Amino acid sequence: MGDPLLKSDFYDVDSLFEEDELLARDTVRQWVRERFMPVVEDCYRKGEFPMDRALELAQLGTFGANLQGYGCAGMSSTAYGLMMQELEWGDSGLRSFVSVQGALCMYPIHAMGSEAQKEKYLPAMAEGKILGCFGLTEPDYGSDPGGMITKAEDRGTHYRLNGAKMWITNSPVAHFAIVWAKLEGKITAFIVERERQGFTTPTQGRKWSLRCSNTGEIVMQDVDIPKENRLPGANGLKSALSCLTQARYGIAYGAIGAAQSCYETARDYTLSRIQFGKPLASFQLIQTKLANMLTEITKAQMLCWRLGRLKDAGKADFAQVSMAKRNNVGRALEIARDARDMLGANGITYEYPVGRHMMNLETVNTYEGTYDIHGLILGERITGIQSYGG
Ligand SMILES: Cc1cc2nc3c(=O)[nH]c(=O)nc-3n(C[C@H](O)[C@H](O)[C@H](O)COP(=O)(O)OP(=O)(O)OC[C@H]3O[C@@H](n4cnc5c(N)ncnc54)[C@H](O)[C@@H]3O)c2cc1C
Repeated sequence: MGDPLLKSDFYDVDSLFEEDELLARDTVRQWVRERFMPVVEDCYRKGEFPMDRALELAQLGTFGANLQGYGCAGMSSTAYGLMMQELEWGDSGLRSFVSVQGALCMYPIHAMGSEAQKEKYLPAMAEGKILGCFGLTEPDYGSDPGGMITKAEDRGTHYRLNGAKMWITNSPVAHFAIVWAKLEGKITAFIVERERQGFTTPTQGRKWSLRCSNTGEIVMQDVDIPKENRLPGANGLKSALSCLTQARYGIAYGAIGAAQSCYETARDYTLSRIQFGKPLASFQLIQTKLANMLTEITKAQMLCWRLGRLKDAGKADFAQVSMAKRNNVGRALEIARDARDMLGANGITYEYPVGRHMMNLETVNTYEGTYDIHGLILGERITGIQSYGG
């Protein structure tokens, strides 16, 4: 079994997973350490994702890993979650790259697309030959996407799109965008290829969080697309939110990886760093911080294990996903802040991952529904009263 503390697996959660799930996790774990960690600092400084790693992520089966058919790996949601955990142990930008491709772009095509769309896009996306991005957020509509201004007009032979999306992961590098827009006042989704006239994706720079990820806008000025580019099953805001539920599930698992990386680093560092003639780890304040970290990681693992099993049984509910996303990211952020503090000055350097995780988790706590919005989703489930609507 090895040292459960070193593996941050205090309750032997590993024994709850199937062999193929652990194999999927360990394969991604090894890849992250060998192929991603050597480049992450450079990418973070430059503010970009290592695009030369995209095909390798495809070969690992990470794109749409839990989707069935059309060249997708067809793994359990639990195996998929464990893969997300390992990716985010590396960096939240790495997990975001995979979440966008699978949960936010392949999922809607799989669940709401026509047969022709599925055949055209899904196998090529699983192989990493086509990359997508997901355009829901707008400059004036974030937590309240139902207010979106982006509009589609039925022009008889085609649709015409006008509007702007903001904070879109991968928009500067994607081959196409799933664009959510109002058609005759009702929200639906369209596949918009990069080559379309009037479609541009300016990069959003000057970020101090999620830097190992390309973020951009989507600007559409009289973009004409064929009728067959509409996702026929995308009907209303609920359809967009169902994609977010898929991505949030992966984020809940991913946050465990970031938290584990911070905990493991803080533990090793405080055991070897001597102050006042003793290792930092011998002081009570440090020990209780480590105890809190391991406790929160263990609770997050239990939430995700159960949620994964519910999801595999087709019983996971979006409010249950909200609870796990909110809790696991919120606690991971606290763990990262504590770890950053415990490393002292070294905690602000690139030498250790904790400062990078801390900065990243500020984004992860905000995107895909903020910490507070997920609290309000749960509040609505508990009371039957929606507190955040207009
Ligand atoms: C790096 C990055 C990548 C992203 N990638 C994508 C992407 O790929 N696709 C995409 O569509 N979007 C993406 N987003 C956007 C993200 O989903 C939004 O930022 C998020 O939904 C929050 O919206 P907002 O930033 O407009 O904040 P706001 O909605 O303006 O919220 C600001 C604050 O007000 C609070 N608040 C809002 N409403 C209420 C209320 N009713 N009651 C109490 N408090 C409230 C929020 O909790 C938050 O604390 C990304 C964001 C970032 C930072």
